[in-house]
Amino acid sequence: MQSMTLDTWDEDVRERYDPNRTKDQFRQYNDDTPAVVREFYRQNHARQTLGFVLAKQREYGSLNHAEMGIWEAMEKLDTLVDDSDPDTSLSQIEHNLQTAEAIRRDGHPRWMILTGFIHDLGKMLCFYGEPQWAVVGDTFPVGCAWSPKIVYAEFFADNPDRQRPELQTAYGIYSPACGLRNVHLSWGHDEYMYLVARDYLPEPAQYMIRYHSCYPVHREGAYQHLLDDHDREMLKWVEKFNPYDLYSKSDSRPPLNELRPWYEDLVAEFFPAKIRW
Ligand code: FE
Ligand code: FE
Repeated sequence: MQSMTLDTWDEDVRERYDPNRTKDQFRQYNDDTPAVVREFYRQNHARQTLGFVLAKQREYGSLNHAEMGIWEAMEKLDTLVDDSDPDTSLSQIEHNLQTAEAIRRDGHPRWMILTGFIHDLGKMLCFYGEPQWAVVGDTFPVGCAWSPKIVYAEFFADNPDRQRPELQTAYGIYSPACGLRNVHLSWGHDEYMYLVARDYLPEPAQYMIRYHSCYPVHREGAYQHLLDDHDREMLKWVEKFNPYDLYSKSDSRPPLNELRPWYEDLVAEFFPAKIRW
């Protein structure tokens, strides 16, 4: 089977959360979903166990995989562009730039523009050999019962955590209103970039990066019983950020060379020349 590219996933998530999609179309879509997308979620849901997530947090939490600047990471990531579809594919740098430019046009603060610019740099995980199912896709809490609102929730039938009754209750290993930041989410580019960038950005930016793929929470309203008031305050920023991520792609290609000096200044305002990855 043809493997799914990072671009396929971006495309899929944009369609799935299209605000003009009716409930009816949504169901139809589930039935005729491309096989690569279904296969992607089949693997993701079967393999993202609590044990896997804790191991990845340990493996990457020490940030000893690389030492490089934001631009170096951006250029490295850009080589990941899918060349099977040269007309419609945007490179990763173009997606990051379009997201940032849309935020900038709406007059949001500089830290939020920067957040748009770097939000997907965690896809760097691909360079460390991580499979797609551990890099992209909607994220969801592990260590407690899966919400039926998670896309393709039926594929959790093959997840080994299904056999651990202590993880199959509403709270699982968590306590009521423990706070989303104390909940382990499935491993991917969101959590990794949060670990890399958290020391340099204000808290709303950390939430935007860390939870931008957590559609079950920020879009579907699942897992309310784990959230606290602080999360509810911060998730407003995640919701504010999401349309820029999803819907800026239809905009024209950003003129990278023209914009580059402005973004170099912005990056330098918040980040040192090199950071740990
Ligand atoms: Fe992303
Ligand atoms: Fe994105």
